[in-house]
Amino acid sequence: MSSKDLHTQGLMQLAEGLENGDFTAVELVTALLDRIQAHDGELNAFITVTADAALQAAKRSDELRRKGDGGVLNGLPLVHKDIFCTRGVLTTCGSRMLENFVSPYDATVVGRMADAGAVMLGKTNMDEFAMGSSNETSYFGPVKNPWDLACSPGGSSGGSAASVAARISPAATGTDTGGSIRQPAALTGTTGLKPTYGRVSRYGMVAFASSLDQAGVITRSAEDAALLLGVMAGFDARDSTSIDHPVPDYLAGLGRPLKGLRVGIVRQHFDAGLDEETGSAVREALSVLEAQGASLTEVDLPNLDLSVPTYYVVAPAECSSNLSRFDGVRFGHRAENPEDLLDLYCRSRGEGFGAEVKRRILTGTYVLSAGYYDAYYLKAQQVRQLIADDFRKAFADVDVIAGPTAPSPAFRLGDKTDDPITMYLNDIYTIGANLAGLPGISIPCGFASELPVGLHLVGPHFGEEQILRTAHQYQLLTDWHTRCPEGYA
Ligand code: GLN
Repeated sequence: MSSKDLHTQGLMQLAEGLENGDFTAVELVTALLDRIQAHDGELNAFITVTADAALQAAKRSDELRRKGDGGVLNGLPLVHKDIFCTRGVLTTCGSRMLENFVSPYDATVVGRMADAGAVMLGKTNMDEFAMGSSNETSYFGPVKNPWDLACSPGGSSGGSAASVAARISPAATGTDTGGSIRQPAALTGTTGLKPTYGRVSRYGMVAFASSLDQAGVITRSAEDAALLLGVMAGFDARDSTSIDHPVPDYLAGLGRPLKGLRVGIVRQHFDAGLDEETGSAVREALSVLEAQGASLTEVDLPNLDLSVPTYYVVAPAECSSNLSRFDGVRFGHRAENPEDLLDLYCRSRGEGFGAEVKRRILTGTYVLSAGYYDAYYLKAQQVRQLIADDFRKAFADVDVIAGPTAPSPAFRLGDKTDDPITMYLNDIYTIGANLAGLPGISIPCGFASELPVGLHLVGPHFGEEQILRTAHQYQLLTDWHTRCPEGYA
């Protein structure tokens, strides 16, 4: 393989190439840094590029390899969503509030990847505090979709998705509170995995809605996602919601054929609201699973249509509480020349946060206020439980639930910014998994209006092996995940 083609390879192939001595980590990292140079002007996928540190790290991994040492990711490049704290590196969370924040420590996810030998190329652009579905709420400007620069790559992990789709990085981390890994993966033709809540540590991940946030990855294939999940997953004493549950060998489970797999289909997912071509691509994908020996049955999730309104009570409530720490005193943006303490708070927060974040804080404060707590917050928590129960019952009869990831392919930048509700509805198929804490993956399964479409697979708690294997078996028979946007081959 010539060094000119290194960007076209996924993690597993790169690992093999490094191991065989076909190229060095320094050559690989240099090639990808060149691609950032060449393409990030048009994509705006990065907030920070850590070129010098990446080259240093690549040199170290080459030395380790020469000595026969190094972890499972030794020399493999990746990028981190700018929501993960990275020691000594700017960590903005897409906000003016953290425009100058250099983290003094690494998030557990970042630390585990680095310990396994991964080389960070930079930090990716995202919706402000991960609130959004289009990357347009970022203080650093929207990310462009490599499939059509006039379109959004989805959000909030849009920079991560765009960099993987544009063959700038073979892999990226992301976070998913309501769909922020899976929806951008769908809109950019990449593979996006959100693990079970508690599977991966949230330590050092800037909190949006703590009971929903979960770290995961965006890659070119399910196999690469399995490789990374094996490194990220596992108990972390520094995150009180991290679960002490054994981490299986995710790669080892991928080979099992789909014969006998019970796939659940939710009728409401194919109702009005789903773009026609998107629906056909997803139906076609289901028939591929069927041809591999899976059986399709309809499952009923009667409370699922309440998931978006439930989410938009729970998530803002938690965010209003989490974001109260940004007061202009301890860290974050501070207004100049405050008249008094109140003026300091008001102007620091007024200047530091963008419109969408303010909208969420106001909504959250309202639903948590004394007179409305029972009517909104408590009620939403009860409905959340009903939704989780629906899934639990459904998983008594099926192994995975399959459907579309997003109602339509990528939309044009600016198209939904004036109407928050339409924007919120982009996560209609993904939010349920967050409310119930379930793992989900989006994989490319075709095109609509010449833009990628995602197939969404949800598993039971700790059912990552099941959804990864389903995705991998599908990817063995199809080539949608290998398609590359024009101009980025
Ligand atoms: N788009 C949803 C929101 O705006 C989900 C975001 C996310 O998963 N971080 O809240």
